[in-house]
Amino acid sequence: MMPRLIPESGEVMEMLRKTGAFREGHFVYPSGQHTPHYFQMPLAFRYYDTARVLAVALSRLLRLEKDISSALPRVAIIAPSAGGIPVAFAVREALAADQIYWAEREDGKRMFRQYVNKGEVYPAVIVDDISRTGKALEETIELVRQLGTRVIGCGAIVRFKGSPEHIESPDGDDPIPVRSLVEFDAKWYDTAAACHECKDEIAPEQVRF
Ligand SMILES: [Zn+2]
Repeated sequence: MMPRLIPESGEVMEMLRKTGAFREGHFVYPSGQHTPHYFQMPLAFRYYDTARVLAVALSRLLRLEKDISSALPRVAIIAPSAGGIPVAFAVREALAADQIYWAEREDGKRMFRQYVNKGEVYPAVIVDDISRTGKALEETIELVRQLGTRVIGCGAIVRFKGSPEHIESPDGDDPIPVRSLVEFDAKWYDTAAACHECKDEIAPEQVRF
């Protein structure tokens, strides 16, 4: 059987489940919030074949955008943080884009390494493993703008439905759509009292972030 060019959301979720990247149960975040599901995306990206299938699929969604396809290969693929780095490398390969960058946190602030200079960064596509709130994408878009570069696309393997579908552009350009393979309807409980899994007395697991 020929693999489908872009796997359906259900197939992607099955890959994430099989690799341990998607877990169901009862989880408690450091913030005190409770949730019945948890994503730990690097667990999917530890398997080269899975990583490749996911990134190739995301790259196909991105290539459908004229702004991106017409700019290639002079495009920078940019990861907001460590989790996005394997996505960025694999998407870069699939698109044959010329540059890769990633941001890191220093003193709580997202930034690029020193000596990444204004004018050097090609039109940018921001990619991440997961977009829970959209904040990482928004902060990275702002960083890229400070370098005088246009953001021409955004993508994440999984996007939580509560996070923005489009990132607004302060320059008055069209909003940038966030492309994803899965749009996940995430459940959150702010307190244990509100949590279904607590009521069902399912043992909770603490997660680090
Ligand atoms: Zn609970």
